[in-house]
Amino acid sequence: MALMPVTEALERVLADASALRGEMVSLDEALGRVLAEDLTALRTQPPAAVSAMDGYAVRANDIATVPATLKVIGEVAAGHPFAGQVGAGQAARIFTGGLMPTGSDTVVIQEVATLSGNLVTIQKPTAKGRNVRAQGIDFAQGQVLLHKGRRLTERDLMLAAAMNHPRLSVHRQPKVAVLGTGDELVPPGGVPGPGEIVYSNGFALSALARSEGADVHDLGIACDSIEDIVSAVRAARKWNADILITSGGASVGEHDLVQRALAAEGLDLSFWRVALRPGRPMMHGRLGGMQVLGVPGNPVSSFVCAFLFLVPLIRRLAGRRDLERIPQTARLGCDLPANDERADYLRASLLAGTDALVATPLPDQDSSLMAPLAKADCLLIRAPNAPAASKGSECVILKLGL
Ligand code: AMP
Ligand code: MG
Repeated sequence: MALMPVTEALERVLADASALRGEMVSLDEALGRVLAEDLTALRTQPPAAVSAMDGYAVRANDIATVPATLKVIGEVAAGHPFAGQVGAGQAARIFTGGLMPTGSDTVVIQEVATLSGNLVTIQKPTAKGRNVRAQGIDFAQGQVLLHKGRRLTERDLMLAAAMNHPRLSVHRQPKVAVLGTGDELVPPGGVPGPGEIVYSNGFALSALARSEGADVHDLGIACDSIEDIVSAVRAARKWNADILITSGGASVGEHDLVQRALAAEGLDLSFWRVALRPGRPMMHGRLGGMQVLGVPGNPVSSFVCAFLFLVPLIRRLAGRRDLERIPQTARLGCDLPANDERADYLRASLLAGTDALVATPLPDQDSSLMAPLAKADCLLIRAPNAPAASKGSECVILKLGL
């Protein structure tokens, strides 16, 4: 069976994945959630002209020549409007956020005014309209300020509140179940026996899923037995997982039982070999309403596969429109040989060069090595059958990190 190109594999993973239904959540719960509907301002901000400074609300005509002395007829502060009107020769004491009294058009800052009794003398000229925030300079009622598909930032929540929305319609968070497989695996923190190794890759997969806004359920470690894997798959279905991601047991060796266990449960397999390095034995299929990604056990392979396939799938289910990380360009820090038929995702460092970032592959690219993976700043992408490339030439990278 031919290896499937990465782009085609991703298309298949996303083929019939669609955004999960919407639900209402309070602003306090909405950080990182994805808007299910366009959000329209329910009010205008500011609702009327207000002062931007502490000072005196005046008529610009009255201070065309300075010094000018005006009669102070009232006071206005935020939340305490002044009912009267500022007429010719008059002023009102005003504080930041105070509504501009009728008749006034300009605020003179208190630093250039001297008060004596109820008379204020303006020392310096102030242009008409200065220090006044006009009605609606931030936004107007009816304006759509946040669009469907947007992942909400802390600043978006501030804006949504100002638009007068206490609750927001967001897509349900994808539920991602994470399963490790392998007789040799033990959780971190114990004393591994002979031949045992510490279960590690699941922590990256879970963290990556969480950072994309998924609700993660850790299914732990299944032994290399069909029975054990099947019972974990059933637990994922019982939890109503939208996505199950398994790691390990993905090749075709005697102990690689994930595909067989899933087939026994009725998996509708879409592919299981991708033209990718690291990560060739990457599998995808569907089990009822649950999407299944089977990634290899080698830690680097599992991470690269999750980065390339799990992240866009979570984003699609979460209602996002920006599914893939945005590739950037950099310059190669060394010569690279021609590539074979698999796309390569090299772990590389990134340094600022004179005119561009410089990406240099780390010396050891073995797919079991976690130390260089943690050290890497980016994945440097080599297209299938790319010709040899020389130091200084342009290359494409995907940045890693928070
Ligand atoms: P497998 O895909 O099961 O053949 O595993 C490939 C290699 O990755 C083996 O050396 C496994 O011991 C290792 N491995 C598998 N799963 C994990 C895991 N969850 N954490 C760390 N290493 C793993
Ligand atoms: Mg294994």
